[in-house]
Amino acid sequence: MYNNYGISEKVVEISKLAMEKIKPQFEHIERIAEYNQMKVLTAFNKHKISEAHFMGSSGYGYNDLGRDAIEAVYADVFGTEDALVRSQFVSGTHTISTALFGILRPADTLLAISGAPYDTLHDVISGEGIGSLKDFGVKYDEIPLDENSNIDLEKVMNYLENNAVKMIEIQRSKGYGWRKTFSAEYINSVIKEIHNKFPNVVCFVDNCYGELVDEIEPYEADLIAGSLIKNLGGGIVPIGGYVVGKEKYVEQVAYRLTSPGIGKEAGATLGINKQFLQGLFLAPHIVSQAIKTAVFCAAVMEELGYVAEPKSSEIRHDIIQSVKIGNKEKLVKFCQGLQSASPIDSHAVPYPSAMPGYADEVIMAAGAFNQGSSIELSADAPIREPYIIYMQGGLTFESGKFGIMKAVESMIG
Ligand SMILES: *Cc1c(COP(=O)(O)O)cnc(C)c1O
Repeated sequence: MYNNYGISEKVVEISKLAMEKIKPQFEHIERIAEYNQMKVLTAFNKHKISEAHFMGSSGYGYNDLGRDAIEAVYADVFGTEDALVRSQFVSGTHTISTALFGILRPADTLLAISGAPYDTLHDVISGEGIGSLKDFGVKYDEIPLDENSNIDLEKVMNYLENNAVKMIEIQRSKGYGWRKTFSAEYINSVIKEIHNKFPNVVCFVDNCYGELVDEIEPYEADLIAGSLIKNLGGGIVPIGGYVVGKEKYVEQVAYRLTSPGIGKEAGATLGINKQFLQGLFLAPHIVSQAIKTAVFCAAVMEELGYVAEPKSSEIRHDIIQSVKIGNKEKLVKFCQGLQSASPIDSHAVPYPSAMPGYADEVIMAAGAFNQGSSIELSADAPIREPYIIYMQGGLTFESGKFGIMKAVESMIG
């Protein structure tokens, strides 16, 4: 049946071997999805979610029942005091930027402790003359990961002893880096240690791509942020971001998003509440589909002799699969093959080009219902040695699997 759809015998054989190898992983992934589904449903039940919550507000958006209920549900799912879940966040970067600006004041110090933050945050933190944190007099420093890709807690504690630090940034996912992704449990343990000695340091987690992959979230953090066109939107939310955490900090972020004095009270939802709720309802399953796709990708690429991070046998903590391709042409071919299996723009051919916020040229394969949605099947790569491909998403495992098969076909064909 595959041959009719442009898949060669060789790729079919490799896929069969891969599927055999990853069976035990699939059982684990399904168990986590089931657990997180119960967690989400329990929060819906507790807050008596009903059709009335689908009603949207307009204008100022005062007294929006649905919006308040959605935020209460999010806080419960994360195990935090409060939440800000809004369509007025234009992207993950905007959400994280708002969280940083919400907390930091001139002469404060921001310390990144999982190495350099995600590429698009570099301008937010230290851009020149564009209204960055640096332009407002916020100081910045970072502590690289240790040789085992763990947070260098000794160095962090030492830094905190000797410097006044307002806020710490931890990135859960590897992003465009070659390291393992941190489990929520690990992040919680690091934050606990920091708070034991330095209770007033605001610990912030960039949670992008990590949501609902583990059984827990990094709830020890004072603030957590992420995008709704990644995991928690369940593939159907067309825009938005979330910030969860301690009430007093979420409030400060809300003052930054809307205006001092207004905060969470305003922000019309128009017609989006139903999608926010249905997206969260679907998210545990959709995330499991994306993880299965990632594991399948790792297994197939390993069959072909490539190094995958994480390996196909490893337990996941985010939905990203990276593979060291080592060759620009093959990397481009992989992306072009994946694009050809997309539901939208399958006829388009992606090429590397410059992107706002990224230092290197980037190639992005994405044929998504929502532009830039990376819970949908997508692959991207900064064009730099050693040519690592980052693939993520897949709303259904069937479509994700086909996408990987087409990518490999294009790469080796
Ligand atoms: C995607 C991502 C971001 C930024 O989100 P955008 O929606 O692309 O702006 C930030 N941090 C990490 C780790 C991400 O994966």
